[in-house]
Amino acid sequence: MRETKSTCPYCGVGCGVIIESEGEQIVGVRGDPQHPANFGRLCTKGSTLHLTAMAPLMRQNRLLEPMMRVSRQQPPRPVSWDVALDEAAQRLAGVIRQHGPDAVGFYISGQLLTEDYYVFNKLAKGLLGTNNIDTNSRLCMSSAVAAYKQTLGADAPPACYDDVHRAQTIFIAGSNTAYAHPILFRRIEEAKRANPALRIIVADPRRTPTAEAADLHLPVQPGTDVALFHGMLHVLIEEGLLDTRFIAQHTTGFETLRATVRRYTPRTAAALCGLEERSLVQAARWFGQSTATLSLYCQGLNQSASGTAKNAALINLHLATGQIGRPGAGPFSLTGQPNAMGGREVGGLANLLSAHRDLSDPHHRAEVARLWGVPDVPATPGTTAVEMFEAAARGQIKALWIVCTNPAQSMPDQRTVRQALERAELVIVQEAYATTATCAYADLLLPAATWAEKDGTVTNSERRVTRVRAAVPPPGSARCDWRIAVDIARRLERRLPARAPHTLFPYDSPEAIWNEHRETTRGRDLDITALSYALLEELGPQQWPMPQGATTGRARLYEDGRFPTPDGRARFANVEYVPVAEARDVRYPISLTTGRLRDQWHGMSRTGQLGRLFGHVSEPCIELSPADMARQGLRDGDLVHITSRRGSIVLPAQGSGEVAPAQAFIAMHWGDEFVSGQTGSGQPAAGVNALTTSAHCPVSKQPELKHAAIKILKA
Ligand code: SF4
Repeated sequence: MRETKSTCPYCGVGCGVIIESEGEQIVGVRGDPQHPANFGRLCTKGSTLHLTAMAPLMRQNRLLEPMMRVSRQQPPRPVSWDVALDEAAQRLAGVIRQHGPDAVGFYISGQLLTEDYYVFNKLAKGLLGTNNIDTNSRLCMSSAVAAYKQTLGADAPPACYDDVHRAQTIFIAGSNTAYAHPILFRRIEEAKRANPALRIIVADPRRTPTAEAADLHLPVQPGTDVALFHGMLHVLIEEGLLDTRFIAQHTTGFETLRATVRRYTPRTAAALCGLEERSLVQAARWFGQSTATLSLYCQGLNQSASGTAKNAALINLHLATGQIGRPGAGPFSLTGQPNAMGGREVGGLANLLSAHRDLSDPHHRAEVARLWGVPDVPATPGTTAVEMFEAAARGQIKALWIVCTNPAQSMPDQRTVRQALERAELVIVQEAYATTATCAYADLLLPAATWAEKDGTVTNSERRVTRVRAAVPPPGSARCDWRIAVDIARRLERRLPARAPHTLFPYDSPEAIWNEHRETTRGRDLDITALSYALLEELGPQQWPMPQGATTGRARLYEDGRFPTPDGRARFANVEYVPVAEARDVRYPISLTTGRLRDQWHGMSRTGQLGRLFGHVSEPCIELSPADMARQGLRDGDLVHITSRRGSIVLPAQGSGEVAPAQAFIAMHWGDEFVSGQTGSGQPAAGVNALTTSAHCPVSKQPELKHAAIKILKA
């Protein structure tokens, strides 16, 4: 039996795993006791990875060879790799010649490895000359990215997992950590057991298992987080709980913000949030009086039409109290996906460039062009996830290349997304599984390797880079994502006007790509020039930055009080509370929130293949408060029509003590095959995202997947 060290491919905790294999079979998986993210522990999803990988249904559902269809009326048929790659290059080049490079859109994934991400970003921005490359991380992390840059000057979570054990107060906002980041949650439970004086505050509209474990649960109304944080800051100011020395020496903009939060009295803020005033005051006191306060936050803040403001308002609290750059303290955004961080590092988003450079900065564009050896990088911002599908639905984007993600289930406002997929002249889907909803729209299906079949690196929530290794070969003729991208890129180089005298894609291994990537980070905030594959092999996973000459990574950032801004000071963000994009009204009187279950992952393409992972929750439902169940005359299991302004689905209703009156909860995981109904255009339903809105944050462009106004009618 062979043992291979890698990571779990599910969430941003980034747990280390040891894969046990015999020949081409994965026979077991266990936690890597030496990995600092988990020290050998795995949650239900991670500990069943070998079972999902080898489940008969999973093997049956794998895409094993390239498939192509000659017309939309015909089913796709198997073709050789050469035919598929030539077809992809020829048709992409045709679209570019006829309509220009911005007629192509790449929609990629936080599930990709950093090396995959790097090649796609260079292919779009360096070779084709379009910034139309975005990722499902836009749906996950972009508000956190925007707020870190706005306030601290760089997209860099300043804290680490070890801070959980050093904190005196942990403030969890918009995160059901117990389900979404289970191994991190176990650390929180351990920290509480070891230090009963540790105070845990949870701000969440639902009484989730995470909220159950809290000393103080703040059941805020959906979308009111900025009012909560400003109300808390008002209390901190009034009660003299600020770190005035830190504010004076290390920040700018406090007086402007002070004037703004003067209006957010505890009474006003509590009323906006639907809280008791004394709870808000208590939370502020615990936050400010603690010797070390750590905030953990995720999609409840990010997936919002004011996501950047929510993130920034929480960071304001840390700057005002000096709760940053010290053990146990800091604003720590949790990454949803396993490698959303790696994608941010290579600049794999429509508004970013390599190594945390900004597309809007002409110096950064020139630097990247020089590093890549191309004349220029286009200045026009690319379309972000929602914008890309809207542009395709309007006919502006003609070709979509979708990699390792399933927008026909996971994007909000499915009516528009499906119109886009139908209208695009060319849809390339690069996937491990043949059964995702998006595959049905593909003109060209390219079989990709997946977990345990590919080599590279990922970065977890605490900036820790880990080597991911192949334990078994991919099935059929599936190939690694970077390899497919390189093969098409080289073909495109032969068909399009030359951008360089030699190929821009000279790679023969992920290590070659990694070496080019780490050179782009030289002198940047995330400098990893020391981090060769050999060093990762020798030292194990490391946290960036780790510049040349460093012998270890850095656990915490900003310990010296200097921030990566032009004047070295952090910036308070003077933001205002803005209500949810779609408020409840008499026609749509219920606030729908969405979220994860403990044992499922994203659109279930992996976890949905294993019966035991349905033991926790076996089927989709809409959870309603007992009061709303009674008011509507509903009993558990009764079917209801759930309708938003965009579509309608049918689900069983379930009474739940976790959900407040006039609110509802639907898990995000189930798609077409489980949830019947239709979008507004009469197309089949797409799970909960037939209902959700594409309204998005004006800064981060992250859509408000966490809230939609709905009505319910007994079926
Ligand atoms: Fe995998 Fe996340 Fe569970 Fe760790 S906590 S085993 S990374 S799903």
